[in-house]
Amino acid sequence: MNVLVINCGSSSLKFQVIDSETEKVEAKGLCERIGIDGNFTYQPAGGEKEESEKPMPTHNEAVSYVIEALTNEKTGVLKSLDEIDCVGHRIVHGGTNLTHSYIITEDVVKEIEDCADLAPLHNTAHVLGIRACQKLMPNVPMAIVCDTAFQQTMPPKAYLYAIPYKYYEEDKVRKYGFHGTSHMFVSQRAIELMGNPDHSKVIVCHLGNGASVSCEVDGKCMENSMGLTPLDGLVMGTRCGDIDASVVEYINKKHGLSVQEILNIFNKESGVYALSDGMSDFRDIAGAAEKGNERAQLALDMFAYRVAKYIGSYVAAMNGVDTICFTAGIGENNGMIRKMICDYLTFLGLELDTEANKVIGDEKLVSTPSSKVKVYVIPTNEELAIARETVALLK
Ligand code: ADP
Repeated sequence: MNVLVINCGSSSLKFQVIDSETEKVEAKGLCERIGIDGNFTYQPAGGEKEESEKPMPTHNEAVSYVIEALTNEKTGVLKSLDEIDCVGHRIVHGGTNLTHSYIITEDVVKEIEDCADLAPLHNTAHVLGIRACQKLMPNVPMAIVCDTAFQQTMPPKAYLYAIPYKYYEEDKVRKYGFHGTSHMFVSQRAIELMGNPDHSKVIVCHLGNGASVSCEVDGKCMENSMGLTPLDGLVMGTRCGDIDASVVEYINKKHGLSVQEILNIFNKESGVYALSDGMSDFRDIAGAAEKGNERAQLALDMFAYRVAKYIGSYVAAMNGVDTICFTAGIGENNGMIRKMICDYLTFLGLELDTEANKVIGDEKLVSTPSSKVKVYVIPTNEELAIARETVALLK
């Protein structure tokens, strides 16, 4: 089956076509600046990357360029639209009702719209993407895969906030956790690598620009460091992560900024970007730290320290851990950060294999044979996870 995987943002649309039998990417690309001017990137497997400016007033035009490129006589990978067997859409927020993946129906679209309050930019864009695909491919079955669904197995003691219960009951204020598709993909792979034992305790560190840690007992998610929104938890590229809510009132009084302005700062001007005085890419920060930039070093130290603290708390939550996995841009590629984190965890009997830990971007066991906790680098693949879920639903 050819699965078209769509990941829609408010002004962007990423896509891949995946052959579900071989699990190979046949083509991929990106529509950017939707609603502004429009930029289109397309690359067939083994072919050249093409980039062009194309007017994209709405997501409809974006989807039509995707179809045009995929079926183009010279560079397309499909003969016609009929060769798209199904479409899988990534959804950021599924709220409390979308607890797994679903074939798209009007009721499902309404649910996505109903939880748009919780992720206004993302969910509104997802619905635009779904509508555009339905318009251009009316007969193709479509599914949604929610980033919050994998975390729906968290117990109430993990997902509730200790505030009046009515905010949970009436307004659905609770921890949802994010990056679920990645945490699911990586934890399932870890369990496979462990030889599919009946019982397992796994921790996944998804360390990218956005970053989160999760823990899974017997494959079921028990915790995720993100909260009601993806602002909570780790120190991230530009997000602050854990913070005392009173800081909002304090800054408001001191500087006269509104709640919205302060949250904008917490989301876009904080994290390692703020700590390092203006760098959010870990390659830049690591380079500056190496040259003696103290603020860059502080950013790296705080990042690793926070990840290690989360891992420690999840070891306690699960009363043990068998395997710790690193994934996403930093987790897969930055051995120095992996080492900084693992250095906090030697009390668990964890031993990092210095040579193996030099790996960049490949799946690898990076702990020593005698280590009491296995440590893996496992590249994440959210698109493949979405394609697999979509095909499984259709079957
Ligand atoms: P997101 O998907 O959340 O935007 P990514 O998972 O792409 O983020 O991760 C981005 C981060 O990964 C950046 O900080 C970048 O520096 C880091 N990164 C990506 N590739 C490498 C690499 N080869 N070596 C070191 N760091 C890398």
